[in-house]
Amino acid sequence: MNKIEAKYINELHVAGIWRQDLLSVIFNLRPCFRLEINDKNLTFLKRRLSGLNLKMTTYIYPPAQKLTAIIGKNKLILDQAKNIDLSFSGYHRIFKMGKILGYPECCINEFIKEFIARQNLPLFSLKNCIRKDKLDFKLNYLYSFETRVLAHPSTELNKLNRLDYLGWNKYLIPHIPCSFECRTSKKYAQKPFSIIKKYSPNYVQELKFYLKNPILFINDYEFIIFKGRVNNNSIIYKKIINPNNLTKKPFLNMVNRGNQIVINNGNIQVFKNNVLLKTFKKGAILFNFK
Ligand SMILES: [Zn+2]
Repeated sequence: MNKIEAKYINELHVAGIWRQDLLSVIFNLRPCFRLEINDKNLTFLKRRLSGLNLKMTTYIYPPAQKLTAIIGKNKLILDQAKNIDLSFSGYHRIFKMGKILGYPECCINEFIKEFIARQNLPLFSLKNCIRKDKLDFKLNYLYSFETRVLAHPSTELNKLNRLDYLGWNKYLIPHIPCSFECRTSKKYAQKPFSIIKKYSPNYVQELKFYLKNPILFINDYEFIIFKGRVNNNSIIYKKIINPNNLTKKPFLNMVNRGNQIVINNGNIQVFKNNVLLKTFKKGAILFNFK
């Protein structure tokens, strides 16, 4: 990759077309990717993409009434993806879109199965793990809020948008894995990881900073990232990182005062040096990414 291309990728990333997605199509890891897009700087985006030998097709996706783009190398595939998106609905659409976007079939099928239940999505990837105590950070998709669009109204996403949430594009895999142990997803995740490491070492550090820490998960939009150590249902922590998602302020303030959390029978207990500060009557799950 030459300097101009690196510059274009930077500019597109700043404009909301993420580096890892661009690299994944440039290096043929997958045929195309889909995203909602802002129509304000469309000409600029198209020019930059064509400087990277990439093409973009845009259309209004009716259910969301949002301008949507498919980006990739091959115009034929982009048109196919657009057709699928516009002509199919429900599970047919999810399956066909997943296939053309290059997602593993095991993950698409599991998503369809769990989509019916409409639960908070990361929970099913965890449910299907045999060893829940140490999860591969490369499959951490908790910051990929685009994955929640189907299961939730976009009001939550709009709120996050207004908060200028910094963690939003931190992911290596674009899809929801059938399990955090999914072999196909692990094999896939290693590829963008190596490519980003080579071409954008600073960005790999940034990704690791987010992906490699334990997360206290309350729901799809409320979770806290810790510098700390998990032991079963408890975490001892030094500090919390970038909490400006939709986690409630009083809870966050209490967690900031403490240094240990225990999840106990659907309650969250916050401790400071073994002294109980407060019990919150809400359920949570610890995701121990490493
Ligand atoms: Zn899978």
